[in-house]
Amino acid sequence: MRSSRSDVANQIKQALTMQEVVEQYGFSPNRSGYIQCPFHAGDDHGSLKIYPDNRGWHCFGCNAGGSIIDFTMRLFDIGFQQAVIRLDMDFNLGLTQAKRTSKAEQSAILEARRQKTEQKAAFEQEYRKKAAEFRYWWEITKHFAPAPGADVLHPFYAEALWRLSILEYWLDENIGR
Ligand SMILES: [Zn+2]
Repeated sequence: MRSSRSDVANQIKQALTMQEVVEQYGFSPNRSGYIQCPFHAGDDHGSLKIYPDNRGWHCFGCNAGGSIIDFTMRLFDIGFQQAVIRLDMDFNLGLTQAKRTSKAEQSAILEARRQKTEQKAAFEQEYRKKAAEFRYWWEITKHFAPAPGADVLHPFYAEALWRLSILEYWLDENIGR
């Protein structure tokens, strides 16, 4: 008799602790059971709490949380069934039949994910900086706007118009990236 998918998932949840799972994937919980959250950027102090046995995890920084299977799904960007197979293979539980993922493949996936998170954080920082510059030059245009009928533009006003056009183009191109 073959086990159904949810039976296997339950067996895996019974067989593994959250701590074993995070350690398998390269995290070291501190003495209070926290690790740096891989699901939001810049978590230097470790906001992700690991609960004992199979009681799962919760991040107090980004509010993500769930079971060991949820953690594995999110960490590797994979679906429920793939996460079940992955945990089964990585811990040699023998509950499913699939090829084991090598340590090298695992670390390549984790490294790619880390880079993606870093790039996203760097981009968001750049976007905020450009938006702040835009507001600055927008204020300048208000301060140095030519009086009605003036035939010479203040050099700050002319510069602000030029910079605003460039910034507006960049912000339009990158919004929602
Ligand atoms: Zn988080």
